[in-house]
Order: sequence, then structure tokens, then C-alpha cells
Amino acid sequence: MIQHKAPAHLRAAYLSLDSRTIYEPAKTAFFAVHGLNHDGHQYIESLYAKGVREFIVEESAWHGALAEKAVSWEQTNIYVVENSIATLQEIAKRHREQFQYPLIAITGSNGKTICKEWLAILCNSSFTIAKSPKSYNSQIGVPLSLWAMQEKHTLGIFEAGISQKGEMDRIETMLKPDYGIFTHFGEAHGSNFSSDEEKLREKLNLFKNAKKLVYRIKDLQNDAIKTIMQEINPSCELIGWNTISPDKGLFTFWQTKGKSAHIKVIKAAQSEAFIDSHIDMSDEASLENATNCLVLASILGISRDVLGIKSRALKPISMRLEMKEGLRGNTLIDDSYNNDVDGLRLALPLLQKNKQKKSVLILSDFIETGIPEKDLYAEVASLVRHQKIDRVIGVGEHIIRNKVNFDSIDVYHTTEDLISSGVLNTINNSQLLLKGARKFNFEKLVHALENKTHRTQLEVNLDAIQHNLTYFKKSIGPDTKLMVMVKAFAYGTGAIEIATLLQNSGVDYLTVAYTDEGVYLRKHGIYVPIMVMNPTVEEFDKLTENGLEPEIYSFNLLKAIDEYSTQQNKNIKIHIKLDTGMKRLGFESSEIAELGENLAQMPQLWVASILSHLAAADSPQHGEFTEKQIAQFSQAAAEIEASLGYQTIKHIANSAAIQNYPSARQDMVRLGISLYGITGNPNVKNKIENVLTLKTSISQIKNIAPEESIGYGRRGNLTGPGRIATLAIGYADGYSRALGMGKGHFEIKGHLCPTVGSICMDMCMVDISQFPDISVSDTAIAFGGKIQLYDLAKQAETIPYELMTNISERVKRVYVTQ
Ligand SMILES: *Cc1c(COP(=O)(O)O)cnc(C)c1O
Repeated sequence: MIQHKAPAHLRAAYLSLDSRTIYEPAKTAFFAVHGLNHDGHQYIESLYAKGVREFIVEESAWHGALAEKAVSWEQTNIYVVENSIATLQEIAKRHREQFQYPLIAITGSNGKTICKEWLAILCNSSFTIAKSPKSYNSQIGVPLSLWAMQEKHTLGIFEAGISQKGEMDRIETMLKPDYGIFTHFGEAHGSNFSSDEEKLREKLNLFKNAKKLVYRIKDLQNDAIKTIMQEINPSCELIGWNTISPDKGLFTFWQTKGKSAHIKVIKAAQSEAFIDSHIDMSDEASLENATNCLVLASILGISRDVLGIKSRALKPISMRLEMKEGLRGNTLIDDSYNNDVDGLRLALPLLQKNKQKKSVLILSDFIETGIPEKDLYAEVASLVRHQKIDRVIGVGEHIIRNKVNFDSIDVYHTTEDLISSGVLNTINNSQLLLKGARKFNFEKLVHALENKTHRTQLEVNLDAIQHNLTYFKKSIGPDTKLMVMVKAFAYGTGAIEIATLLQNSGVDYLTVAYTDEGVYLRKHGIYVPIMVMNPTVEEFDKLTENGLEPEIYSFNLLKAIDEYSTQQNKNIKIHIKLDTGMKRLGFESSEIAELGENLAQMPQLWVASILSHLAAADSPQHGEFTEKQIAQFSQAAAEIEASLGYQTIKHIANSAAIQNYPSARQDMVRLGISLYGITGNPNVKNKIENVLTLKTSISQIKNIAPEESIGYGRRGNLTGPGRIATLAIGYADGYSRALGMGKGHFEIKGHLCPTVGSICMDMCMVDISQFPDISVSDTAIAFGGKIQLYDLAKQAETIPYELMTNISERVKRVYVTQ
């Protein structure tokens, strides 16, 4: 039935906006969103075929063949609304209103997810908890999270995050929290707000109807949270705690000892602490988060003694999911964060990404989920069945007891049993998802399965790439196509991983430099159009067999491809490259007329696009030259199109031009370096995120006497007695030799440590004399933290491109995502 109104209620247990992550179609309602670069409506028919029976669709996109066909779909409810996301939010709000149990909302700049998870741990024996999965805290994440609230729960814990003005009001309307935690407030999401005060006020709107709010008072004289809260919600009880003054409010006392800490909270004028807990962490951020959670848990009635026991179970939470190359062609996805069914539900689709590989799930018992064991494993088994996982391996007594639920599962009592059984060695060409509760120590499995032990790694943050991609998509608008350059192993970051992400995000074209790079992508399941910049005549077979599209830059190449296409009787798509001033590849302006005439005689060649390349889009002093290139390009392209008699895609803008010359965007842009967060444009710099972090370890620390020299040629010297650290990275890893002799620095424990002496092939030495807190177990960051690749390249008297593409193959690439 098709109804032109929002649904009064939905039958579905799950809501989804992402067609790729639907596992139980019959139980899922699909919200189709017509976005800037993506249209969810195109998946409706295939989702119907899979069994989805509830759809929320948008008026503006609901017409044509699909709308007509859907009239005859049986037992299907289609709700046609103006805006699917607004409808989702409205439904979530009404769903939440049915429940009277307390709801806690957490916001702030940092620590939202940690606080949510820790608070849940502190409360899990006293309450049955509904909470947001992972970091679901956005305009879409919040309503999806709220849908999980049920009658059986007795407490809700949800996080809320915003990036723009006005967003918190919408979240507040849905969540209507009774209690709140305001976590650490910082600069994390600053760019869309005019001031810190404006940002703080916007975030505090979450609590405009709350009864109690827990937060840390950083400055007793100037408590900005109090000032704003008294304005927007004077009846809210403010529970501010501080570490400054014992006679003000809730005094908090932190005593750290090695890696653990003692937390006491005392009410002014009382002698006994009402919170007296120990945690196994000692950094300030963890102490602040833990104190917020302990105070709130205490408000919920959890006793000091219970909190004392529970707080010992708080552990740092790695919200990152790591993807690593394993032995025998395996890929490892290590996702031991939040070991619950929701976490599993979110992680399973990762196994579908690469269809060429078999999928293997290694799962431990779930710990303390609050769901009866029978129901829990029945649900897990059903998820696994729907996702068509090829092989399931279980570890732990609970899974052993419930193995009948699974169609097929191998079980082991412990992680050690699994390792010593030898079955891991029989797994090859597979993607393995590892999901284990902390006590099962799945890091041992990772260790047994992973490839290469060289200790330098390049971390590639896939979320940051996604963020940057969205930023550039938005800035070029919906009418400009996006080509992304993935030449040179995607600038050294990993061709397959990046191309897969880009393909899933709907980019229009990928480009490689050489034919073999394109073939490699095709072999690994990349099906989007691929342009090859530098094809040779000998490779035409390879090109056409793999559906690769050559760039044609000379008459020789043009004649050859024309003859080839006639001989093979094949239509071939080509891209015409013009030289407008780069003087590298391409037809000169004097050749355009002849080129046009030739092309008009070659009907079996299809000119998919015409392109040129800018020589100096990143230097303002060559602005005039760049404008001239753009104008010359437009004119030449128009001439060629006139000869062809049809329109082509015209493109000339690289990353710098996308940012500096909006007129250069034309029909398509070619994004390269800035996808990785690197730009020389100061206005864009704070809008995109860092993607790459090159890390290594310290092999040894040495004390150096004044007369001693360091390294080859005795070129390294300290000014007095001091200390150096030898790092496991050298020029063979791609750390340029030009960065020796103090030109480069490494960030260790937040300190910037200069190199000393020459960089060696596999190692280098840094001066740590000033930093006695540095020890052999610390990590050294070459770039990606305080040190930006852009600046490091300047130090090495080169450009970021060269440093990136020089990172050698032996450096392990690790892909991280939340
Ligand atoms: C590499 C390349 C780009 C991308 O350049 P960035 O500066 O990395 O954006 C664009 N066009 C051509 C022809 C290229 O070779």
C-alpha cells in the first residue's frame, strides 16, 4: 500500500538508511534519502526483492517507473513523505516518548563514547540498558539509536554530537534527557561556530529540559556552563565537581600512582567521600571521564561500594577498528571494541566488502550483555546466517553451550586452544573479522595471523578520507563529477583499500598512471570507470580486456588506437589530453584543428572526456598563467566537440585548482593529494582532516657523554651530556635522508625530538636529552600528530607527494576507522 503521509508506527525492529547493511530484510524498514551525491531510491526495487516490506520515500524522488511498479507490490507499506530524515527523527521521538525510565544524554567535545560505555559498565548490574552503538551521535545516529529502546530496558544512555548551529535542538527534541553529562569541552569541532561561547551554548541546549547535569568546573570564578544553564534551564540541578578547592561544591581528589589512580569525591563540609574508587589509568582525560561517570552513577543510586568494584573494570576503549594484512592472503579486521550484539551487527557487513574473499568470523563469548544467553546466541546465529558468513569459529563456554543455534560452527574453550589447534593455518584468501571480549585476549590471534613484523607502520584513517571526500563533494556541488587519482598505489596509501572506499562512496572515475595499476584494481573487484594516463600500444589488449580507458595524448597513439579498434571491430572509449602549458603530455593548441578532423573520421572511438593539466594552480603568483590555461582549454575543447558533434566531460582541475580556481571545476575535477588532508590553502586546511600517520618504535635508548659522536661519519653531536633514542625507521622505509642532522623531528610523548646525525638505511637517532619521561616502550611519530607532512616536506626541501610515495613497501599499512 502506498500512503502519502508519515507512518503512524512501524513494524520493523530495525531502521536503515544504508542498503548495504540490511541483514534481516523482513524486519527492517528502509528510509530512502535523496542526497547530494547519492540517491537511496535506486536501491528500493532490489531491497523489495530481498524482502524489505516497509519503505519511507521522498516525494521529490517518487515518480516514474518505480512508483508505478510499486503499486502492485503486496504486503508492502510505502510512505511517501517530504523528507525521510525528518520523518525518521519524528518516529524516533514518538518511540522514545513511550518510555518513562530515566534517559541520560552525553555531549561535549571529547570523551562522549567513552563516557557512554563506562557509565553502562558502572550501571549494568543495576539496570537493563539501551544505549547508542559505537559513536552513533548524529542527526541520523541518534534516531537510529533510540529505536532500540524497549519495554524491557530500565535505563537509556545516549550520546549526542553536533557540527553546526541548530542541530542540537533537533536532537534534544528526540532525546528529552532526564540527566546529562557534559564531557571535556575543547576545540574538536570548532570550524562551524563563530566562538567557543556560541558552541558551548549550542551544545548545552541538549539539557534545556533536563533535571540534573554533571560536569567538571574548570574555573571556579568563571563557570561558563553555570552561567549559560541558568539562562536556558534555571530549574536544572547543576552538579559541578572540581579539583581545585576543597570548600566548594564537590571536591574531587585524584591521586595517581604509576598507571593507576585513586578517585575520591567529597561534598563540601562533609568528611567522608561518597565516591572512593580506583581505576587502572592515570591520564587526565581518563580521570575526568571516569569522575563524570562515577558521579552520575551515584546519582542513579549505585552505592559507593558497588562503584568501587565496578570502576576496576573500566578499561581504555579503542574505538578504532583496525584492518591489517594477514598471512596467506588473509585480511584481518580487528574489532574488539564494544563486544555486544549491536557491535557485531555493525561489524558484519565489513566482511561483504570484498566479494573475492571468503568470510570468516571469529567470535568469543559476549560478557555481561544483560540478555538471557539463549536469546542472545539465537540472535547472533540469525545475524550470521543472514550475512552468509562462510565460516564461524567460536571461543568460550557460553558459545559451546549454545552451539546448536548455529548451522555450522567450530568451537574452542579458549583462545590458546584455538591457536594450538592449527586451524588458523588452514585459513587463506579470506577476510577475518575478530570480535572478542577483552578477557579472551584476541590480540594473540591477531599476532598469530598478521603479516610482517617490521615495526614501522603507516596508519591510514579511512574516516578522515571519507570526511575529506564529503567535504570536496559538497564544495564542487552535485553537477560536477568527481574523478580521484589513485595512481602510485593511491599516493602510497594502498590502492585497493582506497579504491574500494571510493567506489563505495560513489565517485565517478578513478585514474591510474599505468595500465598494470588499472589491471590490479580490476583484479580486486574495482568496477568503476578507470582512466589510464600513460598507456602504450603493446598494452591495448590488456586495456580493453580490463575495461580500462586510455588517455590519448599524441597523433601516434591516436592512430594506433584507431587501427586497433577497427581491426578488433570494437568501440573504444578514450580521453583526449591537451597541453595548455604544462609541457608534459598532450596535443598542442596548433594541433587542435587536425585532431578534430581526425576524430571526426574515427566513429568507433568514443571521446569520453577532454582534459588538460594545470602547471601552477597552487601558486598565486602564477594566477594569470593559470587563468590563461583554463581559457585556452575551454576554447580547444569546444572546437573538438564541434568536430565530434557531441558533448564530452571536460576537466582540468587538480586538488589545488578545486580550491583556488572555482572556474576550473568544469564538468569534472581530479582530486589527488587533498583527499589525504594535505593542502596549501589556509581556508581549506581546517576543514579537512589528517589521514596519514607514520609511526615507529624505539629500539634502544643510550646515554651520551660530551666527547662521544653519534652515527655514520661521526656527524652527530650533542652540545653536552645527553640521551638519544634509536628509532626503527630509516631512509629505506622512506624517511628521507635529507631530514637528518636535526632537520626532521619525531613526536614522542608529545615532545618534538630532533634527529641527530645522519639518517641510516633502517634506523635513525633522535635527541631526547630534554625529555626524561621518554622510555623504550614509547611510540615515535614521524608525521601525522603535531608534525604535519606538509611542513616536514618543506624541511626535507621536497613536496608531500614525494614523501608519501616514498614510504616503502615494507612499511605495514594499517587502516583505521571508528
Ligand atoms: C596527479 C594528477 C592530478 C592530481 O593532482 P593533485 O595535485 O594530487 O590533486 C590531476 N591530474 C593529473 C593529470 C595528474 O597527473
